[in-house]
Amino acid sequence: RVAPAPPIVAMLPSPGMGHLIPMIEFAKRVVRYHNLSVTFVIPTDGPPSKTQIAVLQALPDSISHTFLPQVTLSDLPPDAKIETVMSYVVLRSLPSLRQAFHSLSATHTLAALVVDLFSTDAFDVAAEFNASPYVFFPSTATALSLLFHLPTLDREVHCEYRDLPEPVKIPGCIPLHGRELLDPVQDRKDEAYKWVLHHAKRYREAEGIIENSFTELEPGAWSELQKEQPGRPPVYAVGPLVRMETSSVESECLRWLDEQPCGSVLFVSFGSGGTLSTAQINELAHGLEASEQRFLWVVKSPNDKIANAAYFSAETAADPFHFLPEGFVERTKGRGFVVPSWAPQPQVLAHPSTAGFLTHCGWNSILESVVSGVPFIAWPLFAEQRMNAFMLTQEVRVALRPKVADNGLVERQEISSVVKSLMEGEEGKKLRYRTKDLKDAAAMALAENGSSTNHISHLALLWANKTTVTPPPPKI
Ligand code: UDP
Repeated sequence: RVAPAPPIVAMLPSPGMGHLIPMIEFAKRVVRYHNLSVTFVIPTDGPPSKTQIAVLQALPDSISHTFLPQVTLSDLPPDAKIETVMSYVVLRSLPSLRQAFHSLSATHTLAALVVDLFSTDAFDVAAEFNASPYVFFPSTATALSLLFHLPTLDREVHCEYRDLPEPVKIPGCIPLHGRELLDPVQDRKDEAYKWVLHHAKRYREAEGIIENSFTELEPGAWSELQKEQPGRPPVYAVGPLVRMETSSVESECLRWLDEQPCGSVLFVSFGSGGTLSTAQINELAHGLEASEQRFLWVVKSPNDKIANAAYFSAETAADPFHFLPEGFVERTKGRGFVVPSWAPQPQVLAHPSTAGFLTHCGWNSILESVVSGVPFIAWPLFAEQRMNAFMLTQEVRVALRPKVADNGLVERQEISSVVKSLMEGEEGKKLRYRTKDLKDAAAMALAENGSSTNHISHLALLWANKTTVTPPPPKI
């Protein structure tokens, strides 16, 4: 007799790498504990990127994937925001998701559907197949708290949040100015705002929210999220989930790092999709040069209109080196190393030569740096990154934040001075101590009996048994 197939958990990430990577890390751990398999069902509006395919193909047999047929978005306005695009891609993929579920349910019990933050419309299909609905929230507990609070803010506030004279109070968090809130809530008339509010309301339909964070990193937000609240699903602290590479990665920049003194290099990168303007790239190059520090910089071609131009592809079209100041590469040779488009970031951050990270404050980047104990220069560009920069500088105080001049640029003198203070100043030393404490707390969360391990094994057990009653999450 053939043994019945194990229950399956479907995971549905919205397009792009930023949300897929942590969901994959979660999936890898879920299949470790119980007799479960995971399948990624990935909506698309274009061909998947090479990076995406490579990452998915390297997964163990218990984790499969399917790309849903591409949907058309040609009727959306060209300036539609990323949250709007992601929401429509998912909404228009529901018929093919339903078909995929039909085939899966012929051979498996569909235990759960885990969707990411802008994909809650897939809950409708989950309900048809009796799969338990969950949200995987790949950003901060602070942003999650804001989203839980958003329906109230939406009712009570009648202007743009950025025009409020008083800072906004997210339960448990340090009050912050409305202009620091996530991008899609900055313009309440834009469709992106309506989508985010829509998803935030639907989070309450989930049986649980899986949050890639841990308590020590965001003590304020967690103090509230851990309380039981009627109508709000339990929030599972599963972070910090970062990519663990099993095979050793070979790359020129890692070899270059091997040759640098221990604790001497600033890593400069703006995530998978972050882009700077031409003028800003120029200032950054001059600032790095003037700081006289060692640096490893992942350069993408500039985009003068939007800050997340490479989000869906992770690659930029033109040769990015072309946009660096004349003679820059030669003048900084030996001390600086420039890589086009992509570097093996987790390995770079874990390298003993790396001592600082100038980052756009994407959440995965922050977590990867925290687990390696590397302090930050916070240079937010889009999405929830200003909130993340605020949290890093004001709450856990492991980052410096350069000032933006009236012309909208971070100027070369400012860059050079912030880089020097992080890499060799007294302030940098203090940040480094605090980052070391966070690194230890992260290691505890991931250890046997740590919060991440306990919460993931609890979820896996629930799904493997697929009961209808959800017990409360274990105490952290
Ligand atoms: N990343 C990388 N190499 C690069 C740029 C990015 O490996 O050159 C990875 C990085 O390690 C992280 C992810 O891409 O896991 C970026 O996610 P994050 O949330 O920081 O930012 P996003 O790309 O979503 O803006």
